[in-house]
This record gives sequence, structure tokens and C-alpha cells, in this order.
Amino acid sequence: MTIQKLALLYQGKAKAVYATSDPEQLWITYKDQATALNGKRKVEVSGKGALNLHISQRLFQVLADAAIPTHYVQTLDTTSMLCRRATMVPLEAVLRNFASGHFVSKFQVPAMQRLAPTIHEFYYKDDGLDDPFMNDDQILALQITNTTTLSHMRQLSDRVNAVLRTYFESIGIILVDFKLEFGHLADGTLVVADELSPDNMRLVDATTGESLDKDVFRQAAGDLVTHYQEVAKRLDQIV
Ligand code: C5P
Repeated sequence: MTIQKLALLYQGKAKAVYATSDPEQLWITYKDQATALNGKRKVEVSGKGALNLHISQRLFQVLADAAIPTHYVQTLDTTSMLCRRATMVPLEAVLRNFASGHFVSKFQVPAMQRLAPTIHEFYYKDDGLDDPFMNDDQILALQITNTTTLSHMRQLSDRVNAVLRTYFESIGIILVDFKLEFGHLADGTLVVADELSPDNMRLVDATTGESLDKDVFRQAAGDLVTHYQEVAKRLDQIV
């Protein structure tokens, strides 16, 4: 049975989410929009949606091959994927292998300082509050999620990190840090949801040290599409 795209459910900064003829599945379209400063800076970047879809689908497949549950089902067209409907945990889980971004500005440590152990941080998804940092006690006291889900999110984040770090290493890219979002399927399974693209992870060329991610846009340091294309090209080489 062909899946039908139905009503728009949610319009995000980088993606639009539609209902489908299957109540358990969502149609997610990646947009050609780049944002920084929590959406305060917005630019149309032709080709970005297709690149993020391409990279995300590849990385979701890599996780699936490692038996890590995700919401990805299949690719529908050049900018859209079919995903399992999940009730999202309103937290962003950030993992840091090396110092960069806000970690550097907050602690004034050298960029790319190795971080051991890998650092887990959680941020409450609330644009009105500018997505504030939350520690475990704050998450539990405000009942954002429970202890079981929180520790499961940590475990899955560590597994994702191990798999993706090794994968990127094999194509000459260092996985500096990344953000994950999680959701529960109807049967209660916790899955990696949202997207896995250079919009949500810092990727650095292992030889040149050049950024291959959204930092190019954040720092107005060049053409974002060319850099994302480089990531896509290297991923395609090992399919
Ligand atoms: O900005 P910061 O250094 O905290 O970002 C850490 C990682 O989380 C980066 O890879 C960044 O792209 C990602 N991130 C994200 N969405 C946010 C905040 C951070 O994808 N809202």
C-alpha cells in the first residue's frame, strides 16, 4: 500500500512533519533553511535539505546495523523520510568527545581538547526559555522524564557515539560532539529520533582540521553546501 502524505503536524526550523495514511508513521521533510542563535538568524540554503536527508538516512542505517533502535523507516524522495511516530522526550542530549562550541566559551579551554570521560549534557527543549541546560535532578524534579528513561538515553547515546565515531574515523572525520533526541514508540520502545546530520554534529576533517558541519554557517566561514557534500561523498564511498 502506498503511503499518503496528510496534514502538516509541525513546522520546525529545519524540518516539517506530516501525518500519513498510517497513524503509526510520519512523513518528515528536510528543509533548505539554515538557522543559528536558536532561530534568530535564518537563511535559505538551496540543496541543504536533500544533503541532510541523504546523510541522516545513511547514519540511521548505520545505527540500525548496530541494532540501535531508531525512528527511521525508509526514504521517500530526495528530501523526505518515513519515520515511526514517537512521543518525544523534550530533551536534547549532547555528547562531547572534544571541546568545542559552548563548552569552549563556557570553560575557556582550548578547542579540540580531548574530553575523558565523554561528556553528557541535557538541555530542555523550550524555545521560550532558550533551551536551558538541565542536570539530572532538575529533569527528575520537574518530571521531564523518569530515571529509567534518563539512564536508557545515556546508554543509547554512548552506543551511538561508539558506532558513529568509528564510522566517521574510517572516512577521515573526527566526531567532535553531537546532539540526539529520543522518543517512545507506541509499544514503549525508546528510539533515536529527529535527524543525524552536520546540522546537529560537529565533524572535523582528521587531516586538515577543517570544519565540515554547521559551524561553517555559524561562523560564516564558507559555503555550507560544499562542506556537507564532502561528508555525503565520503559516506557514499563506504556504502
Ligand atoms: O552549541 P554547543 O557547543 O552546545 O553544541 C554541541 C553540539 O550539539 C553541536 O554538535 C551542535 O550542533 C549540537 N546542537 C544541536 N542543537 C542545539 C544545540 C546544539 O544540534 N539546539
